Amino acid sequence: MAGFVERNARKEIFRLKPYVPGKPIEEVKRELGVEDVIKMASNENPLGASPRAREAIQAMLDDLHIYPDSNCYYLKQKLAAKYEYGAENFIIGNGSDELLRLIAETFISPEDQVIFGHPSFAEYEFMTMIMGGGCQAVKLADFKYDLPAIQAAITESTKIVYICNPNNPTGTIVSRQEIEDFMAGLRDDVLVVFDEAYYEYVADPLYQSGLEYLERGHNVIVLRTFSKIYGLAALRIGYGITTPEIAEAVNRVREPFNVNSLAQAAAAAALDDTEHLKRSRELNQQGKEYLYQEFEKMGLSYVPTETNFIFVDTGRDCQEVFQQLLPQGVIVRTGDIFGYPTSIRVTIGSQTENQRFIENLKRILED
Ligand SMILES: *Cc1c(COP(=O)(O)O)cnc(C)c1O
Repeated sequence: MAGFVERNARKEIFRLKPYVPGKPIEEVKRELGVEDVIKMASNENPLGASPRAREAIQAMLDDLHIYPDSNCYYLKQKLAAKYEYGAENFIIGNGSDELLRLIAETFISPEDQVIFGHPSFAEYEFMTMIMGGGCQAVKLADFKYDLPAIQAAITESTKIVYICNPNNPTGTIVSRQEIEDFMAGLRDDVLVVFDEAYYEYVADPLYQSGLEYLERGHNVIVLRTFSKIYGLAALRIGYGITTPEIAEAVNRVREPFNVNSLAQAAAAAALDDTEHLKRSRELNQQGKEYLYQEFEKMGLSYVPTETNFIFVDTGRDCQEVFQQLLPQGVIVRTGDIFGYPTSIRVTIGSQTENQRFIENLKRILED
């Protein structure tokens, strides 16, 4: 007789591949006895959170016994002012991960298909599979989202197209013209979700946000997060900008208290700290140039990035490189899970972190 779960659980759960998160700092300390560990695996901001966000959290500590504002009223007001949209255009989630789940719960039935690039952010597939929908992964071309190929893959049953722009794990963007051509040929009942988690890092003038298409009346959702440049990953908060109609629908499946009070307060305060944003961007730019230079000296090929991480080919088994960096207290992400067995994805850190990573990588590759 088959086990209880096998007989009773929804069949969809057996097809799920668990998400592989960046290895936690505490785990490396525990398992390897290393004291000083740096994580360059999850694209967190090496400067940490804005001091204003920390103050906002301090100010909330007397109210921990009060439920959060279900509607995130104050944060939505701030976002509405920043973007010059109405509060009704926003959905706030417990990380943009939660928004991806809510979007799937709102729109995906078992007969539906979604399309995304590969390799790209794993959650598009995960959330679709949970809902029993079908997935089509379209290979990147030259490490970039291949929008013509995605266009060609669209069928009658295509419900959602996810465009990760810039793309994680490759750091590349699709250009304004590429998106223009894609959107022009798109059936108007296909929802396009632009995942712009690294939007604030982009420097390329050819970039265009999906917001452009919201303005032009398309059915799109633009996702942004406080986890990356805003340095609030631990709090779990992200937002979507979309039509009031879509926002209202997604709200129906949302838990009433999905975003905690500390996250709401910290996010609102972080939005005001343009200085912190600017410093984070500058530090990233310096780190990027340093790492490019060092990779070039080492003869390693890398994908030029519009984000705070770099996909670099070490020419060695990435698991070996990963395992040899760990005892040195450096955590990176391996490329094998993305289909690139000799590449790693490294987050651009502080100058000291970048140097420490490079020194150790050099030593490993010289062996
Ligand atoms: C980090 C990341 C997210 C998730 O962000 P959270 O707001 O922390 O859930 C979403 N999309 C991409 C592409 C990411 O890299």
